[in-house]
Amino acid sequence: MTDLRFRLLLCSFVGSGFACEHGGEPDFFVISGDHVDYRYSRGMEPCAGNAFAVNAFALHTALVLGLDRDNEELPRITFSWLTDEDFELWTNDTCVEAKGCSIGTEAYSHIPIHHHEVVHALMPPGAPFLDEGLAVALDPGSGGSLAEIDERDPRPYLVDFVQGDLGLTDEAYGVAGLFVSYLLQVYGAERFHAVYAAIPRKSEFPDWQSAFLQHYDRSADELAEEYLSAKACPKGISPLPRFECSAPEIVPQDGMVVFQRTLDCSDEDVEGGVSLALIDEARPGWGVRVSRSFVIDTPGEYKVVVVTPTTEDGTVGYALLGPCGGCAWLPEPGIAITGNSEGEVMWLDEGQFFVTVSVPETVAQEVSVSISPAP
Ligand SMILES: [Zn+2]
Repeated sequence: MTDLRFRLLLCSFVGSGFACEHGGEPDFFVISGDHVDYRYSRGMEPCAGNAFAVNAFALHTALVLGLDRDNEELPRITFSWLTDEDFELWTNDTCVEAKGCSIGTEAYSHIPIHHHEVVHALMPPGAPFLDEGLAVALDPGSGGSLAEIDERDPRPYLVDFVQGDLGLTDEAYGVAGLFVSYLLQVYGAERFHAVYAAIPRKSEFPDWQSAFLQHYDRSADELAEEYLSAKACPKGISPLPRFECSAPEIVPQDGMVVFQRTLDCSDEDVEGGVSLALIDEARPGWGVRVSRSFVIDTPGEYKVVVVTPTTEDGTVGYALLGPCGGCAWLPEPGIAITGNSEGEVMWLDEGQFFVTVSVPETVAQEVSVSISPAP
């Protein structure tokens, strides 16, 4: 792993036709990392950890997908957090309605960090079912919503992900995300790449049939049935690595896992930000968030206490806990605890977990999470 060294550039070397100077002021800024150029419009105030986090996520995704096999395959990408005006100017007609979008190796978004689009920018375009399924499967933000997907059968969506009545719904994204999670976790990245490359972007059913037969030794029906019947998570299966689980580990003190600190947007491990362009509207910012991992040695009931500050309008933050192991195609809902919680008691199995603490303001604020064996 190489050092991430960032330089703040004022539009130099991005010369792709956009105006870089506006009345002497730069129109956007670039923080250049090892894998990703993090760009943001004038008027956006990203937290200090955003560029580092996007770079780390790109590297994590590349490792999970085996894109770094010969170092040639990891494309350098850009991520741009844009004002509405810049979004319209920089993207194309198919993007304008979306919250985020990617065109080639360039990801664009209305939010400070958009993992889904970063995955798209790292991969060449593929059949939409696989393309979107992969972005959903690897997006740390997908976990909770995937646990609520009832429909599982991938067959109706394979060809008709974009066209047809079934496509481009939350359900379709969820079905694709779960099935791709299964393919990656059970059969590995190499076979997934082979199938991804074999099925054209505009596919017909025989394309799926022959790719599945060739690379998974199963027809589409056989593979779908096998997946639908895999309702129990095999013991000892290697996890599909989650990005949050690569966060720094909290070392327990006296049997307690304690995370306590002042969170500020200027901290190097904090993500989020504020859009000054939207400061008068309802969506000026996304607050800040930070993740940590921890290990539970003894399964049992634990008391989880979360304390976050309350804003003027009464909003509080929250902590989201989730397991790092298990089967990604059988997701359990993360455990969301609203600050301020007096202490919810919950069962935690043995193994590694992550916790993400999120608060609505970007100014310095005290937060704490403590997890201790329930008496
Ligand atoms: Zn997408």
